[in-house]
Amino acid sequence: MICVCLLYSFFLFVMSTATAKRPQGQSKSSPKQTPYTRFQKTLYHVLERLDLADGENTWFAEPQHIHKQDLTIERDDGTKEAFHAYRVQFNNARGPYKGGIRFHPAADEEEVKALAALMSIKTAVVNVPFGGAKGGVEVNPKELTSKELQSLSRAYARAFADHLGPDIDCPAPDVNTTPDIMAWMRDEYEKITGGYSPACITGKPLSFGGSLGRDTATARGGFFILQELIKGEALDPSELRVVVQGFGNAGAHIATMLHNAGYMVVAISDSQGAIYAPEGLDPIRIQKYKRKTGSVTGEYCEGSVCDLERMKLDGVERVTNEKLLTLPCDVLIPAALDNVITEENAKDIQARFILELANGPTTPEADEILEARGVQVVPDVLANAGGVTVSYFEWSQGRSGEQWTATRVDRNLRRHMLEGYKAVKRTSRREGMTYRQAAFAVGIRRMLDAMRVRGWI
Ligand code: NAD
Repeated sequence: MICVCLLYSFFLFVMSTATAKRPQGQSKSSPKQTPYTRFQKTLYHVLERLDLADGENTWFAEPQHIHKQDLTIERDDGTKEAFHAYRVQFNNARGPYKGGIRFHPAADEEEVKALAALMSIKTAVVNVPFGGAKGGVEVNPKELTSKELQSLSRAYARAFADHLGPDIDCPAPDVNTTPDIMAWMRDEYEKITGGYSPACITGKPLSFGGSLGRDTATARGGFFILQELIKGEALDPSELRVVVQGFGNAGAHIATMLHNAGYMVVAISDSQGAIYAPEGLDPIRIQKYKRKTGSVTGEYCEGSVCDLERMKLDGVERVTNEKLLTLPCDVLIPAALDNVITEENAKDIQARFILELANGPTTPEADEILEARGVQVVPDVLANAGGVTVSYFEWSQGRSGEQWTATRVDRNLRRHMLEGYKAVKRTSRREGMTYRQAAFAVGIRRMLDAMRVRGWI
């Protein structure tokens, strides 16, 4: 009996210490997985390993502010339609909130919260003086005309103007939001505030306060890290086969950069399908055909009808996006959607390295499988931080009136990315963490430092 009681007491003690670092009010497991609960799973794991004082972890439980509005626009046919819109501000201890605005049907509160939290970690990992935020509108922008899209973008800036500004919260583009949309938002913000405010938003067109290098920044940042990683492994680009999922801003640019640097890009995809060529593809040619036909398979296929003769001649196969992830390769680059590497396919992934240009492409369960299999994952909060880094340069240029050269942008981007990478690598080695856990640890410690010196904790 005494033995049972002792065992039970020990069990209670273990449970209480296991939850001690969990932010208050949060249960260990959530019945329904959402992007935010997936973020929290990694967060709690890392918080439990950091030696935090009482109460410090509560800062990471929830965002500081969640702003929500319904945006009503007039459609071209005169009818009115409303869309749910969000601006989530996670933490601003290190500087103004910073993060993109996404126009997507799945951009709900949970997704935007998770992305805002990841932004706070990301800005800290690459050490740019910002906090983290994210915005979203639940809409399929492909169903809007250009005029309706402009109305929606302006409505967003009006709805959240009180919470935005160069010293408060500075948005940027994300999925389905373009430099044109940033220009409409800046224009609307300036109408409301009555001043000239080039640093109120980043990712603007070059002719309206944008920065050189912003369009390629996310891919370029990931490229610098991959180069450093393979140098550390004493590998040569010409030995490495690369698969890229997604052929938009992030995916198309990195495929081209890697091809130009001597890597063999063997598969590429977009929302309409994927092509695989074991002997290598030319992303520049595919880009040309995608512009002409609207898809990466367009050079060979029209809808479901493919020119099989020509494909055979070029050594090209058409594969599904699911199959693409498990193709034989050395480097896998998810650059499209979240939640694509899961416990279902993680065991079949053949890549040795995964460079996450997309936000949240790997579930925590898949992470564990990949770690056990020795696959090196460079996490989103580091791999795709090039975008926010050059956004910082654009914000600085907007404030100072300076215009940086492309060389200056590139040199400084490289420095921020490699310093972030080295901090993560050091922490990973020293504390026996995966790169994702180490990146969270680096980011959380930098946020805590800022909160401590401010006297918040
Ligand atoms: P984008 O809209 O320019 O491109 C997305 C690409 O993914 C398109 O080619 C689209 O066809 C493809 N795609 C969509 N559904 C797909 C599917 N089911 N399978 C395969 N491909 C599919 O977007 P982007 O700016 O390149 O962003 C892609 C990812 O990178 C997102 O997760 C985004 O949050 C992240 N990211 C982008 C930036 C940036 O600066 N662009 C910065 C940081 C993170």
